[in-house]
Amino acid sequence: MSEDRVAVATGGCQCGAVRYALYVTPQKAHVCHCRMCQRATGGLFAALAGAPKADVAWTRGSPAVFRSSNLATRQFCRDCGTPLGFAYDLPEARAYVTIGSLDHPERVPVLMQYGVESQLPWVTFNEHVPTEETAADPKVAAFFAGLRSLQG
Ligand SMILES: [Zn+2]
Ligand SMILES: [Zn+2]
Repeated sequence: MSEDRVAVATGGCQCGAVRYALYVTPQKAHVCHCRMCQRATGGLFAALAGAPKADVAWTRGSPAVFRSSNLATRQFCRDCGTPLGFAYDLPEARAYVTIGSLDHPERVPVLMQYGVESQLPWVTFNEHVPTEETAADPKVAAFFAGLRSLQG
């Protein structure tokens, strides 16, 4: 299991009940401006960085899970509410953690912005990084075509 592996990045929730570790350098750091990420974080966008699912472990406690759509779940601390993670169901998909919950978020600069169709017009942010609308890439459009939000 994970005990003999060396964590490259660690993080956790605000109250400390849930902690996690990434055993590879955080990948695909991005923000997502979509309405589901806005709602899930209560923020203006979600900031996420990922790793292969086998390279992420919950090392203290376990998060509560909300199925935000038929394709993905979101993890958060049931005690303090900190949004901690996001993952598509596909086994080959990365598991993402919220950059703000990392112990060293300054080491994980955002490289991409997604969901810009829902970006709030007064949010100007990291304008030098590439942007992409949700499912703009034809390769993933078919995947998102099946998306059914379970957001209330
Ligand atoms: Zn907590
Ligand atoms: Zn999103």
